[in-house]
Amino acid sequence: MSQENLNPFAIAQQQLDEAARILKLDEATHQMLRWPVRELHVSLPVRMDDGSIQVFKGFRVQYNDSRGPTKGGIRFHPAETIDTVRALAAWMTWKTAVVDIPLGGGKGGVICNPKEMSKYELERLSRQYIRQVGRLIGPAKDVPAPDVYTTPQIMSWMMDEFYWQQGYNAFGVITGKPLAIGGSKGRGDATARGGVFCVREACKKLDIDPTKVTYAVQGFGNAGQFAATLMKELLGADKLVAVSDSRSGVYSADGLDPEKLVEYKLKNGKVSGFPGAESISNEELLELDVDVLIPAALENQITADNAARIKARISAELANGPTTPEADKILYDRNVFVIPDFLCNAGGVTVSYFEQVQNAYNYYWTIDDVYKRLDQKMTDAFRNVYENSLEYSVDMRKAAYIVAVSRVAEAMKLRGWV
Ligand code: GLU
Repeated sequence: MSQENLNPFAIAQQQLDEAARILKLDEATHQMLRWPVRELHVSLPVRMDDGSIQVFKGFRVQYNDSRGPTKGGIRFHPAETIDTVRALAAWMTWKTAVVDIPLGGGKGGVICNPKEMSKYELERLSRQYIRQVGRLIGPAKDVPAPDVYTTPQIMSWMMDEFYWQQGYNAFGVITGKPLAIGGSKGRGDATARGGVFCVREACKKLDIDPTKVTYAVQGFGNAGQFAATLMKELLGADKLVAVSDSRSGVYSADGLDPEKLVEYKLKNGKVSGFPGAESISNEELLELDVDVLIPAALENQITADNAARIKARISAELANGPTTPEADKILYDRNVFVIPDFLCNAGGVTVSYFEQVQNAYNYYWTIDDVYKRLDQKMTDAFRNVYENSLEYSVDMRKAAYIVAVSRVAEAMKLRGWV
């Protein structure tokens, strides 16, 4: 085992430090970008179904709002930590900047295990979170959204609780809502769709025929499921050879049917046991000889320990933080083309931004409007980052940092913060 520091916030700071060095950032700007401007830690007493009260810990981090209201999801996860939320909030800051939407970056989290909670317990927890964090959020302040293990239903309860606090409907306080209460068409698969647009652009640059690629998806939640189907639907990708979820994975050299896999997962709550497939571990999946690897689970999956064994030509990061800095160096030396997380998965927040715009003028777009504008945003961002990677002779992650950090630094300078 290598001695890498796997604290996500230490990693986010290390990535920033490297960008600051390349950009020769002044000390004050650099320091402002190393830490959140604001964060709230809350205790959430929640009545459980058995009548007892359980106290949950929650966080909301507003990392930087110099380019606009902070934006970013809320994660419900048993392994949540303040440093994970800080890292995710930093990455949201770079994400909104790299796709050039007028928002900052933030993130929230609650330490809990939603898989072991009833629907009513989850509702009470979601409302309690807003009772505490409500003072900090709002359409012009900070706008949450879904993340790992939070859903459109949870967004609905949270938006509703904010309504009871304020006394009026402020749909734009939260995104990722269902269509019936101010959601946007196309938000459901936006993260994956944006990532597949990036894969399409990467294939053009690398002269790869996307209809001939094999691919594997690690993580079979919202982003992973849609990525599996959209690679086929949008690019005509040849073969999905493996997918995994938090329990285990399935593999077939002849290819797996993405639609059937999604159906199976929805019915059984897991991918293992899928008919006609062999079982495979999460670790084995990452090391498969595929053209496109799609990490769509959690942080720190590709590290100094396994990076030398990654055989994919492209790694399209739909997860946040799946690759460590040490692994990045190894992948770059081995010519693995990494589409970095905060570029590759920016489709979600981009359509969240579209949702907010629609909420603000209370008029809703067609699905074609959403797809067209998302494609434009992702394609422009990808090409801009790619050009920077050539200009500075750096990998795509450093190039994405160069673009994003420059934009945030410029906003802070113009506002007189630094
Ligand atoms: N949680 C998603 C992300 O990490 C979406 C954030 C949003 O829509 O605000 O990008």
